Amino acid sequence: MPIFYDTHAHLDYPDYSTDLATVIERAAASGIRRIIAIGTDLESSARAVKLSDRFPSVYAVVGWHPCQASEAPEDLRPALRELARHSKVVGLGETGLDHYRLPSAQGGSPADDESFKRKHAELFRQHLELASELDLNCVIHQRDAFDEVITELAPFANKVRGVFHCFVGSPAEMQRVVALGSLVSFTGIITFKNAASIRETVAATPLDRFILETDSPYLAPVPYRGKRCEPAFVKEVAEAAASMKGCSPDELSEATCATAHQFFPKLA
Ligand SMILES: [Zn+2]
Repeated sequence: MPIFYDTHAHLDYPDYSTDLATVIERAAASGIRRIIAIGTDLESSARAVKLSDRFPSVYAVVGWHPCQASEAPEDLRPALRELARHSKVVGLGETGLDHYRLPSAQGGSPADDESFKRKHAELFRQHLELASELDLNCVIHQRDAFDEVITELAPFANKVRGVFHCFVGSPAEMQRVVALGSLVSFTGIITFKNAASIRETVAATPLDRFILETDSPYLAPVPYRGKRCEPAFVKEVAEAAASMKGCSPDELSEATCATAHQFFPKLA
């Protein structure tokens, strides 16, 4: 059975509060050998680290999601630095920029939009600076801010790489990510009926420039679409990606796992 990794799962969310051990067993039974629990704020990140202590197959990425930027401390770095010392913390995130719901769409002023964007950018930069200091890479979330993320990441590109998680961009956008030495990551969206354009991007992405994820509990692939997603379903994402790449599941397993180890050096 080919082995795959789920490189992005919100295992600390209440969705799994009653059956997490079973969820992790099901993943193992489907050949999912590593799961990266991703933090969205300091508490969530600390929970992700605890899960990595509890389950041998679970690793953690710690950070503060841009959608919670308004609640972030002025300087996140000391607390993140502390969390990142743990041997199973393999990266920083999820971080990035989200310009999908600007204050002006809810009655705010252009000045409100500017300070909103500034706060996101400051928080993102703190992750990039710390990643550079600690020799780690970043898991990046972006919505309606692709150019801005590239602009922020570019000055760090010789030290820090990003994985553009849940990538739904065009082949041209994928090329810009790859040109910075960074990666993209695909979710169950690639199995959705209406996602023909993202399938073109998967086909165009070099075999060693992407990894796989579920973004559990969101985005369950077909045939589970609409249900709670779980790491076992990365298998369906992998099967779809293999057919888009015209390679065997074994070849995809080898490529995506090697890429994950290269990107997350602390992943054992
Ligand atoms: Zn996520």
